[in-house]
Amino acid sequence: MNNIGVSAVREEHKFNYTDSSVWVSLPENLCPALVGDIQADVVIVGGGFTGLHAALALREAGVDVVLLEMDFCGMGASGRNSGHLAPTMGKDLLSLVRHVGKERAAGFMRFNDRSVRNVEEAFARYGIDCDYEPAGNVICGLHPRHLGPLQRTAALAQSLGVDVSFLSEGEMRERGLPSAFRFGVLDPRGGHLNPGKYVMGLRRAALAAGVRIFENSPVTQIDESSAPVRVATERGSVQADKVIIATNGYTPVSLGRLKSKIMPIRVTLFRTARLNPEQLEALGWRGREGIITAHAAIEHYRPTPDGRILAGSKFVRYRYGSKLANGYQPAVFEGFTRLLKERFPEVPDLQIETFWGGWVGMTPDFLPLSFSNRRGNLFYGMGYNGHGIAHATTNGRMLADQVLGRPNEDVELFKRRMIPLPPEPLRWLAVNGLKWYYERMDQIVDDDLRLRRDL
Ligand SMILES: Cc1cc2nc3c(=O)[nH]c(=O)nc-3n(C[C@H](O)[C@H](O)[C@H](O)COP(=O)(O)OP(=O)(O)OC[C@H]3O[C@@H](n4cnc5c(N)ncnc54)[C@H](O)[C@@H]3O)c2cc1C
Repeated sequence: MNNIGVSAVREEHKFNYTDSSVWVSLPENLCPALVGDIQADVVIVGGGFTGLHAALALREAGVDVVLLEMDFCGMGASGRNSGHLAPTMGKDLLSLVRHVGKERAAGFMRFNDRSVRNVEEAFARYGIDCDYEPAGNVICGLHPRHLGPLQRTAALAQSLGVDVSFLSEGEMRERGLPSAFRFGVLDPRGGHLNPGKYVMGLRRAALAAGVRIFENSPVTQIDESSAPVRVATERGSVQADKVIIATNGYTPVSLGRLKSKIMPIRVTLFRTARLNPEQLEALGWRGREGIITAHAAIEHYRPTPDGRILAGSKFVRYRYGSKLANGYQPAVFEGFTRLLKERFPEVPDLQIETFWGGWVGMTPDFLPLSFSNRRGNLFYGMGYNGHGIAHATTNGRMLADQVLGRPNEDVELFKRRMIPLPPEPLRWLAVNGLKWYYERMDQIVDDDLRLRRDL
């Protein structure tokens, strides 16, 4: 027997990890794979929030839509994420304004606002119950070093017309937020939801609206040089006038032109076992706000309706060549296990039940993409940098408008010249250099927090 195999099995047992997600499972009505050659008005590649929203918007306009999904709809980031519905854009507001200026940032803030509302309206429009708790989200400071940037963030957001409030330490305790989170910026819009129920609700709505969905149908080639465009899968093809590519962090390296615009970053999540009534009482967290920390590489925490804490980010990973990295990472799981105890000292016996994760699509300027090729037959919607519940929802409609030739102010908002991502090995060096820098900054803060606690 192979020794490497044995140790791998032992490691697998040490942490409960799933390559899938805790939110979704194989649908009973799995759609058939595409076999043979068919035609449609529009083909959509990718069945997450972006692809499904684009499909629904196009069907409303009477367009014949085929959607090709390599797995089942919802198996990408849309059915794996943490479920924070937050009006966030860019890495953080301070760097966004530094990067694009106040006026443009104000436009993005209004886009955020619309996007959160679009999600909430989608629940009603498509009859989706996804355990949405409109409790808002708080960017939380844990260390005095976080105070200045958070106060500046609150003031800047207010000056851009965003209705946020700074919460002092006293106000945080009054709201019952767990004690490690000392002060923060509360954004009352949005909250958190079950992303699996959201994306599966969209899948249901798309099928009911007459979108022809083919699952287990990875697209292997797109030939847009002739009209109509030919989109090939392993066992079939679709000819269509226009194609929308909505593959986000899962965009295959074979779609060469996107290599300089988007790259996948692996994000790990976990959820705890259910807290018992005593643990819930000790935890407080009465307002059930989503928590996002003010670290350089953020941590986020949220309660679930069935009495767990769901959390993640912080320890992200980039794999050379923008390939999709293996999700089983014991060092990351160890890191989270230690962190959980530090962040929730109220419940020292909190246990992590399951780890999982997924790929987010990152762009060089941390802003989403929504654009077409010169011929006007290929449309790209992706690059949400971890904020896609709101932005992908809106982008679906933006893509549909572009396909239909309708004006859309949001499409104009995101038109820009973007510095391309560097090729390898520079990309690997740049991403890991930045990652090292962020982690180092956070480590200084976290080490000092440990020191203060132990004094
Ligand atoms: C771990 C994690 C946590 C996150 N947390 C949050 C959060 O709390 N809040 C938030 O707003 N956002 C969050 N996000 C981001 C959010 O989930 C995404 O931005 C959003 O789901 C993107 O939707 P999408 O439809 O563009 O992409 P996806 O949902 O990733 O869908 C892309 C689809 O394309 C398919 N595909 C890829 N290649 C092919 C091919 N060749 N042929 C056919 N199909 C293909 C994939 O299988 C996939 O289903 C998180 C993401 C991750 C991974």
